[in-house]
Order: sequence, then C-alpha cells, then structure tokens
Amino acid sequence: MSEPFPSELSRGEQAAPVAFLGLGHMGGPMAVNLVNAGYAVTGFDVMPAALETAEANGIATAASAAAAVSGAGVVLTMLPSGKHLLDAYRGTGDQPGLLAAAAPNTLFLDCSTINVEEAREAAELAVAAGHRAVDAPVSGGVVGAEAGTLTFMVGALPEDFKAVSPMLEVMGRRVVHCGEHGAGQAAKICNNMILGISMIAVSEAFVLGEKLGLTHQALFDVASAASGQCWALTTNCPVPGPVPTSPANRDYQPGFAGALMAKDLKLALNALESTGVAAQLGPLASAIYDDFAAEGGAGRDFSGIITDIRDKSAR
Ligand code: NAD
Repeated sequence: MSEPFPSELSRGEQAAPVAFLGLGHMGGPMAVNLVNAGYAVTGFDVMPAALETAEANGIATAASAAAAVSGAGVVLTMLPSGKHLLDAYRGTGDQPGLLAAAAPNTLFLDCSTINVEEAREAAELAVAAGHRAVDAPVSGGVVGAEAGTLTFMVGALPEDFKAVSPMLEVMGRRVVHCGEHGAGQAAKICNNMILGISMIAVSEAFVLGEKLGLTHQALFDVASAASGQCWALTTNCPVPGPVPTSPANRDYQPGFAGALMAKDLKLALNALESTGVAAQLGPLASAIYDDFAAEGGAGRDFSGIITDIRDKSAR
C-alpha cells in the first residue's frame, strides 16, 4: 500500500500535498495561511467566484474535486453542512466521490461544522475506504481564519492527531484533542450551546436592568466581577459601552452571525434528541435563534438577540 501521508506531518516541503475543498469565507483564508507556511495546496470549490478569489490570493486550483485530490496526502474540507460533506465523500450522479478518487491511506480532515453522527459516519466511510479520518471543527470566525488564530477541536485517533497537529497549528492558535472520531464536533456544539444560552441570559438581564432603572455600566460592573461573569458578557457584551470592541458598538455587525448560531444550536438540538438528554434550555435557545435568524437577524451578530427581547418587552 502506498503511503502518501507520513506518520508525522512537518511544515514546509516535506509535508504531504493538501487538497482544500470549500474555499468560502473560512476555507479561503485558511488555505492562504497553509500556502504561506509552505504547504503545497490545490484548492477546489463548486462556486467559480470562490475559485477566482482563491487564485487571486495565490492558491493553485484544480478543475474538479477529483483532480484536486489526486496526488494529495491530506484532503481538507470546509463545507456548509454534513450533507455537502457526505455527498462529496461518496459522490453524486456523475461526480466521483473523493474517497474513491484519493490514493489509499489519504488523511481526510474535515473542518466543517456538522452533526456528530454525520462526522462519525464520514469517518467510518473514510476508514472503510482505506483512509484516515479526523474531524476538526473550528471557532474563531473569519477574523480567526485570516489571522491564523482559530481554535481546532479535534476528534481523531492519537496517531492521526499527532500527524495533523503541525498543519492545524499553522491555521490556529489552539488545537485540542477531544477524543476519537466525532469528538471534535461534540465539543464544538456543546460549547456553542453554552454560548447561545448564556447570550440569551445576559441579554434578558440587561433588558430587565433597563426596566428596573439600572444603567448598563452598573450592571456590567457588578456582573462582570461576580457570578454572572461569562464570555457573552465580558467579550461580546450585547449593549454598547461597557466593552468597546463588542459588536453592539457597531450596530451588531458580526462577529458571529445569527444564522451560524441558529445552525449550531440546531446541531446541538439534534444531538440532544438523539442522546435523550432531558435538556430544556438548549431546545429553547435553538427555537429563539431560529426566530431571530428568520426575522432579520441572520446576518447580524447573535448578540443582537437583545434588540428582539427589548422590542417584545415594549409591547
Ligand atoms: P461558505 O458558504 O462561505 O463556504 C463554503 C464553501 O464550500 C462555499 O464556497 C461553497 O461553494 C463550497 N462548497 C460547497 N460544496 C462543495 C463541494 N462539494 N466541493 C467544494 N466546495 C464546495 O461557509 P463558511 O462561512 O466558510 O463556513 C464553512 C464551515 O465552517 C461551515 O460548516 C460553518 O458552519 C463553519 N464555521 C463558520 C464560521 C464563520 O464565522 N463563517 C465559524 C466557525 C465555523
């Protein structure tokens, strides 16, 4: 069996060639960072505009997904959903699947945010086809993708985690091994469920404070140094003023868009249902962010949920 992917992947010229599929808001800048670190990257995207932008940014591109993966040691995917990923792995219609097109023992590295079950299924398919599989969803957004400061939450066998870590460290600042296949996705959705719930809690508290005559600064000064302290309050504060860098100070320009929070909470909801967890706040947060996204919040920062709560409180 050929060995296109070495047991330890080093930076620069010795590293296995990378096929990078999905050159959108996140994938585009992540691929640029790999190229700048000396990796041989061949990109592909189904959208011609994404290919053109990638080429303008110095990424070599292929005419098809199959052409991109031929000769690659790593196939990195950064796609919108699990369905996109599974379709790409298996192939659809006359499009050959990536798993069949790749050389044996290729490492399939998926950085998309998808259902835990889909991540496990993708890994099973890859392994059954004679490959290696890693799920490594990210947090940090487009800013983190551009700056190379993403956090990677990784589900992988220990030897695959070790092999892929140097590459992830090029694109990110923190790389956490969470367990075996699917564990990266599990960590991502658990974290984002905390985030969605806590942003709603902080926003409700600010609106209640307004009704009770508290200034935003007074509530912030107390809660940020007391047991109400959390990231939603101290970094992404949903009211303008106390944290000058938070999206509230720029009319809720994202940041982390409401559509992405709604997506991640739906993934959390799916996992809550499939595991039978007796959760109440996770499903409620999912419904609240679905409404927010459907009613104009999709492109706004998720902290803009406070304006919905305030508007509904005024009725
Ligand atoms: P995006 O829509 O900008 O990019 C996805 C790209 O994949 C698109 O360019 C699309 O054309 C391409 N694509 C779809 N099917 C393909 C296929 N079969 N082959 C090749 N390319 C294909 O989305 P994004 O914002 O870059 O997000 C990508 C993933 O990262 C999502 O799963 C998202 O949830 C996750 N994520 C996004 C952010 C963010 O802030 N944008 C943050 C964390 C995680």
